[in-house]
Amino acid sequence: MSFDFVKKLDFESEFFNLYKISESAYAAICKEDSSMRANAGFIDIGDYLIIVDTTMSIGAAKDLIKAATHYTQKEPNFIVITHYHLDHIMGNSLLDVSTQIMTSDRTLKNLQTEGRKRIEDIKKMDLKKLESSLNKVTDEVQRKRGEIELAVAKTIQSEGFTIREPNITFKTGCVIHGNNKNVHLRTFQKAHTDGDVIVYIPEEKILFTGDLLFARTDPWLGSGDPEGWISLSEELFTIDFKIAVPGHGELASKDEFTLQSKYIEEILRIVKKKIDAGEDPTTIKREHFSEEFQSWKSPIFQRNIEFLSEYLKKS
Ligand SMILES: [Zn+2]
Repeated sequence: MSFDFVKKLDFESEFFNLYKISESAYAAICKEDSSMRANAGFIDIGDYLIIVDTTMSIGAAKDLIKAATHYTQKEPNFIVITHYHLDHIMGNSLLDVSTQIMTSDRTLKNLQTEGRKRIEDIKKMDLKKLESSLNKVTDEVQRKRGEIELAVAKTIQSEGFTIREPNITFKTGCVIHGNNKNVHLRTFQKAHTDGDVIVYIPEEKILFTGDLLFARTDPWLGSGDPEGWISLSEELFTIDFKIAVPGHGELASKDEFTLQSKYIEEILRIVKKKIDAGEDPTTIKREHFSEEFQSWKSPIFQRNIEFLSEYLKKS
């Protein structure tokens, strides 16, 4: 998808391509196979600089902050966290307490339960064992993924590593008022996770979706409510925006929400059909899906099938 009003900036980063998508907003789109793993961005609203998500990689988050201060000539005042998954929060502690971290009440709660538990589990991992099992992986995609996981585990186990948790939260939404622009934060029913946050600039019709949108790549369904996500997508579709910065994938138009809903509906239907027929859903392959999903190649596909096999048996 290309947008004639988007300008690619010549900021050098091994982790992301940087785009100026409006007068105030910048999108850092993760390069393929980068340890950054998820997209991020920043918004200059005149008297405040807002960072949106801090990615999976400390290096990527450092580049993001460097780019933000370079292009805006400001220091970050706020970090907005779109949800609790590690690939959106690892760089939180790079900025000290003079930068406020904002999110929804439910995302903070998830961070303090699921998020902390995940970090404790990673702290207990045997890195040597992880490294030697990685050496045996022959599939290149899986190997790259494993390498990123190992790097994250090494970071989390490094001395003094912490993830700052948000210190300002809201129940349904709030507005950050700048002297140039206002930025709206909103949260909804459970979808990708419970407490997902969007960042919206009405005046510029810019939407940062967090992981409520995976653009042309398998959306991870296992932390949320797939049906709730489909109905929320209809609501998000009604928001007046001309470009979306998705949590994963390239810059997107409204159509990507429709495509993502089609994917979720289809995977639910196919897995349910297998269960109803008394067959093993984990034998489902990508070939069983519509043509537009054939070129998608994320390993999340298999994890979604495994998750739904259990999820749909329970419901
Ligand atoms: Zn996520």
